Amino acid sequence: MRVFCLSVLFALLAGCSNSLQIDDSYIASGQNSRVQYIVLHYTSTDFARSLQLLTQGEVSSHYLIGEAPATVYRLVDENRRAWHAGVSQWQGRTWLNGTTIGIELVNQGFYDGPNGRYWQPFAPAQIDALVVLLKGIMQRHQLPPGSIIAHSDIAPQRKVDPGPLFPWKRLADEGLLPWPDADAVARQHALFSTRLPSVQWFQEQLARQGYAVPMQGELDPATRNVIVAFQMKYRPARYDGEPDAETAALLLVLAGMQASR
Ligand SMILES: [Zn+2]
Repeated sequence: MRVFCLSVLFALLAGCSNSLQIDDSYIASGQNSRVQYIVLHYTSTDFARSLQLLTQGEVSSHYLIGEAPATVYRLVDENRRAWHAGVSQWQGRTWLNGTTIGIELVNQGFYDGPNGRYWQPFAPAQIDALVVLLKGIMQRHQLPPGSIIAHSDIAPQRKVDPGPLFPWKRLADEGLLPWPDADAVARQHALFSTRLPSVQWFQEQLARQGYAVPMQGELDPATRNVIVAFQMKYRPARYDGEPDAETAALLLVLAGMQASR
């Protein structure tokens, strides 16, 4: 009975769609892409397992880029939602699957060995392919520089990908990301070395960048995790979560660049 009812319903719906004529003569000028950010990830595993996880499981991404060869696979159409961000927040927006394009890079991530944490470097050809892909996406969706963010930026309490070896500076050199001027950072670094700003100041500056960060003025583990995410991106030589003078300088110079845009 239930099967019969459903088939009748589908027949009726099919009949309706056939009879409805939609006129596409007019296009509204007030519209833009639903995509606001591009989120970068690494897969933490090899290609075969990455492909399996991203095509047959609960998680997915719009693109997957192999290591060797650095083939770019499109797994989800850009206009549809992929399930890559999870619980996430950036610039006050939450649940970012609906407004982002997710790109996964095949990379093992890290392992903790006897001499500390080892991170796997990214293959140069993989980054070359990523740069071309990013330029195309940014053009298709009219995204401004700075729209490319890390999974660790939008979920700093539970994610570290794409990690400290991801070459953000390379993206900046390609014009895809605003980058703090080294001389300006050096000047501010010298000033902050004599007097470090308060934890509250760091939290305000990190929030201004887009991070979801506690605002109570305490250097708690959650705040440290956010500082780590910021440092992995802009000062990967040391990402210990310490609110130091150079981190302050980077934040201040970036804030000045934001204000002048
Ligand atoms: Zn991720």
